[in-house]
Amino acid sequence: MKILICNDDGFQAPGIVALYEALRTVADVEVVAPEHNNSAKSNALTLHSPLYVHHASNGFRYVNGTPADCVHVALTGLLGYRPDLVVSGINNGANMGDDTIYSGTVGAAMEGYLFGIPAIAFSQVEKGWAHLDAAGATARQLVQQLISQQHVGAAPWLLNVNIPNRPLDALKPIKVCRLGRRHAAERVITQTSPRGETMYWIGSAGAAKDDAEGTDFHAALQGHVCLTPLKVDLTDHDHLGYWAQTAARMAAGRAPAGGEAGRAAGTAV
Ligand code: MN
Repeated sequence: MKILICNDDGFQAPGIVALYEALRTVADVEVVAPEHNNSAKSNALTLHSPLYVHHASNGFRYVNGTPADCVHVALTGLLGYRPDLVVSGINNGANMGDDTIYSGTVGAAMEGYLFGIPAIAFSQVEKGWAHLDAAGATARQLVQQLISQQHVGAAPWLLNVNIPNRPLDALKPIKVCRLGRRHAAERVITQTSPRGETMYWIGSAGAAKDDAEGTDFHAALQGHVCLTPLKVDLTDHDHLGYWAQTAARMAAGRAPAGGEAGRAAGTAV
């Protein structure tokens, strides 16, 4: 069993060290992670500058790129083999609801999933690394169970897991939840640079808006380890029919080339 580990907080972050230490006891693990913090880089790939891979003294490899770059480079030539599982994290802070769209932690896992490899993104609910040992143990337990029950090696899947910052014996069992939603982000923050220019800092993510029962926000508040299976298809399947009808109406209303009737129909739109 071979596991590729990545994250978005950078190869020196305590979360990836904890994940590596936890998973090395259950599989052959390799770390390929960003050199610097790449939180909120989603699935971004670096296309217009070269990527370099360096070895850290602890055996980790680090890349001057994004989380998705790391997994992409690892899977398309760097590793020389195909890992059975891609695991990302453990992130410094929650990736719940809309966070999953922006998250580099999820992006790294998603890159593995896009290559047909099962993948998991792990995050701690609060920033600051409190009870990181418990999060590591939780990750090991879940990965171990997935492997022993032969879920790794079958069809690929993508799991998003958030772990409350609690000691192991205070963590409630895994709850499978849907993603909640956040309110719109806080206002942008402005400052004046030493040269008199206005600087804009992206504000914090909004608070939970949909944290109803069944969501990751709700389960995390109750102290559960939250697990959400993700898919990548962004198609709005519920509204395919509506847009098909709308497109047909628009096409019918469009003036055909030449002819008064056509022009009249066209103006009626
Ligand atoms: Mn991060």
